[in-house]
Amino acid sequence: MKPLTEPEIRAAFVNCTKGEASRLNVPRDLAEQPWDDLDFLGWRDPQAPDRAYLAAVIDGRPVAVALRSSGAASWQARRSLCSLCVTTHTGGVSLLVAPRAGKAGKQGNSVGAYMCADLACSLYVRGKKEVGTKLHESLTLEEKIERTLANLAAFVAKVTA
Ligand SMILES: [Zn+2]
Repeated sequence: MKPLTEPEIRAAFVNCTKGEASRLNVPRDLAEQPWDDLDFLGWRDPQAPDRAYLAAVIDGRPVAVALRSSGAASWQARRSLCSLCVTTHTGGVSLLVAPRAGKAGKQGNSVGAYMCADLACSLYVRGKKEVGTKLHESLTLEEKIERTLANLAAFVAKVTA
């Protein structure tokens, strides 16, 4: 993806206030992120590990989403599937919940999805980060990347709907 700057990321948040977007922790090492291998940038807040964020470029526009970990993942089977990149992890998938944008979010509506706990989907898809079990899939890398992007766009569309 195209590298994003800190001001671009902060301005792109769709589901938190401007004040929250200006205060939240954006990675300091943005220049060193492996942008060429990223379909989206995902990170955890180092000071508040239950908070996660993702930033992507969808239809040519930067979009960023604030997420919260839900503690409710334990009922799930221990091996779970990321809904974005369709990687199977043992214990490495979190249920992340995004407040919906605008009025719906203020009324407490949110959208949840299981995602790689470290939000490194792009690197799992490319085999740059290993997981214990690999699903046997006949898709090419390009198809897997397209699928990840489509899943991400669908998630973002639910948040902003
Ligand atoms: Zn993933």
